[in-house]
Amino acid sequence: MMKKSNFIAGILKNKCPRCRKGKLFKNDNPYQLKRVLDMHGNCPVCGQRTELEIGFWYGTGYVSYVLAVMFSVFNLIWYWLIFGITWRDDSIFHWLIANGIILTLSMPLLMRLSRTLYLTFYVGHDPEAETRKQKESVLS
Ligand SMILES: [Zn+2]
Repeated sequence: MMKKSNFIAGILKNKCPRCRKGKLFKNDNPYQLKRVLDMHGNCPVCGQRTELEIGFWYGTGYVSYVLAVMFSVFNLIWYWLIFGITWRDDSIFHWLIANGIILTLSMPLLMRLSRTLYLTFYVGHDPEAETRKQKESVLS
């Protein structure tokens, strides 16, 4: 149970999937839009490469699409519960507009989240990674 919550917290906080400690992004604030996708080349804690190969991040397009759909469903549910949606009036259009605004405002977060998720598909958790890197730097 504990492990699972660490796993999810690591993704939500955009942590390196290998050590779950290092930050993937250089700037903590995703709303500085010029630097939203500014990443460390290697995890500052364990040294894990972030862009595994040239063009690696192109695959995140699909991830962010799925995230946007899931997020829209979530918005639909709470909007429905709070404001109600029927076919008899304009409420569905109001939801569409609200959802569009929320999606646009969340885009920097979703873009980062999709990169972190995508890297997590490829890189497994390795709790020893940090100590190993420290040993290596002592030896060299
Ligand atoms: Zn790391």
